[in-house]
Amino acid sequence: MTTSQPTVCAYCGTDQGLFQAEHVIPRCLWEADRPGHMLTVPACGPCNHGYGRDEEYFRTVLVALTGQGSHPQVNQLLGGKVRRALKRNPRLREDMTRNVRPMPRRSPGGLFAGVRLGFELDVKRFYRGVEKTVRGLFAYKSGRPLAPSTAVRIYEGNGFWETPGFQSLLEEMSEPAGVGDDVFSCRCARYSVDPEWSAWLLIYYQTQGFFAWTEPLGSSHEIAGEDTGIRDRGIASRLATNSNIVDPEGS
Ligand SMILES: [Zn+2]
Repeated sequence: MTTSQPTVCAYCGTDQGLFQAEHVIPRCLWEADRPGHMLTVPACGPCNHGYGRDEEYFRTVLVALTGQGSHPQVNQLLGGKVRRALKRNPRLREDMTRNVRPMPRRSPGGLFAGVRLGFELDVKRFYRGVEKTVRGLFAYKSGRPLAPSTAVRIYEGNGFWETPGFQSLLEEMSEPAGVGDDVFSCRCARYSVDPEWSAWLLIYYQTQGFFAWTEPLGSSHEIAGEDTGIRDRGIASRLATNSNIVDPEGS
């Protein structure tokens, strides 16, 4: 955003009130050794506050999904900030242990591979952490916020990688970019047909992938179409998962 334009909130678009520099990639994803240059965008008080409430939950779930031994920052967080937060915050502890139950593990080929404990994920709340980063990145790259009425649709996990629609989309996405280390990286594709349409691949700790796209609500555009690069409308329904029980060790 240039200085000649009024400052607007990167999340809701308001030009009123006081603005804070909001970190597009939450600082809490690092225990220590954060990169020197972190992306920030202006955020109004209510947006800053609203997203802030769920940030600790997002970090805790993300780190639990990634699991011990997968990434040095995750190992440090599990023994440091995350452990302290769980100790200090009974609400968070409750959120992370709700409906813990055994669940079947499956091999990548879909075969039964034993049982491990899963917890109930508040998907909507967790995805707000991803949505915040998508909206922040969009504003950072475009110099304007996504319309608040534009939906950010998020698909987590590894189920989408193999679909032909996703593979062709991947070819059109930008090269992976991060903030100086491998805690976070992102690729994106944006469409000239409608600038509110964009597709994102976010990868945290090199293991947790989220595919997101932004879609104006009530849009008459179809997802399918040669020009958009997403050639398979069915990708959306196949990516959607009915289960909100997740495997804390990731899969
Ligand atoms: Zn705002």
